[in-house]
Amino acid sequence: METVVQFHEKEDLGTWYTPLRCLITDKTQEPRIHCICGNAYNPDKTLVACSNSECKIWLHDDCLIGDALSRSYRQQILDNVTERRRLKEYLESQNNTSMKKKGRQFTPPWTGKLEAVLDFSGSPTKAIIKDLRDEHKNPQEQDLICLKCQTLLE
Ligand SMILES: [Zn+2]
Ligand SMILES: [Zn+2]
Repeated sequence: METVVQFHEKEDLGTWYTPLRCLITDKTQEPRIHCICGNAYNPDKTLVACSNSECKIWLHDDCLIGDALSRSYRQQILDNVTERRRLKEYLESQNNTSMKKKGRQFTPPWTGKLEAVLDFSGSPTKAIIKDLRDEHKNPQEQDLICLKCQTLLE
């Protein structure tokens, strides 16, 4: 009897790296990879396509939100050396696959400070950034930029 690797759709993205073996063709199928984060397709996640016809990469909404938050955060902490270092370390950890594979968890420095959702109601799609430290402050809009080709997303 073949051992079949189960495909847990609801589980965390980590399990999505597991290749699948087809019982009929006996071929291994790699999970589909989208986005620059290297995580495979997950039906529970919303993907946004890049508007550049030469790129057309599909990006996770979470990854776009993270990028918009890091830009908002950077604008707010320009003068704060400690926070700037924290942000730099966090972003480096996200781009470093060996660090990620070791399971080291890095909390984004904006956790508890800024929160964002995507607003698909208008064109272009924007990230709406809420400042959790000041409820009277108006939410800020942030453009969405392709994480691969830097095109402004429409
Ligand atoms: Zn992603
Ligand atoms: Zn692109």
